Amino acid sequence: MKNQPHKAEFVCDFMLGKLARWLRIMGYDTLYWRVSQISFDDVIHQAKHENRILLTRSKQRIPYNKIIRIKSTNIKSQLTQLAQEHVISLEIDITKSRCTECNGTLKRTEKNEILSKLPPKTAEHFDTFFQCTKCGKIYWEGRHWIRIRHTLLEIEEKLHAHLENKMV
Ligand SMILES: [Zn+2]
Repeated sequence: MKNQPHKAEFVCDFMLGKLARWLRIMGYDTLYWRVSQISFDDVIHQAKHENRILLTRSKQRIPYNKIIRIKSTNIKSQLTQLAQEHVISLEIDITKSRCTECNGTLKRTEKNEILSKLPPKTAEHFDTFFQCTKCGKIYWEGRHWIRIRHTLLEIEEKLHAHLENKMV
């Protein structure tokens, strides 16, 4: 096996559904439930049980030490905070992405196997596709991916500018 750096694993609280989707697409194994599905105590329990980092907006005392209190409600600021604290790197590689819907891993799939499920324009313009091994959702590097990359780059640049300002 290749020597790959260990990636952090997360549990996101109810308030952080969008962040959970971003972390998954960036390849981080991230659990997330809606408030109707599970209690906050169970969220904490799951984090402990699997030794995951709990990302939360809650200010209450939580009897667990692997917690990061997310300060902002804004997704860019949230990602900036995690990058600043060296918990994540602002990279994206579709071959390592996880399904935004279910956290399943993705695997390469042949275009002709999924052709009937693709919008016609997509089938016309793209040749490389990935599919969630759990729920079957199909992924490709379309316009949405360009936007994601752009956002990550933007955050990275701001972080660097911030660091340079600090050193002056
Ligand atoms: Zn899935």
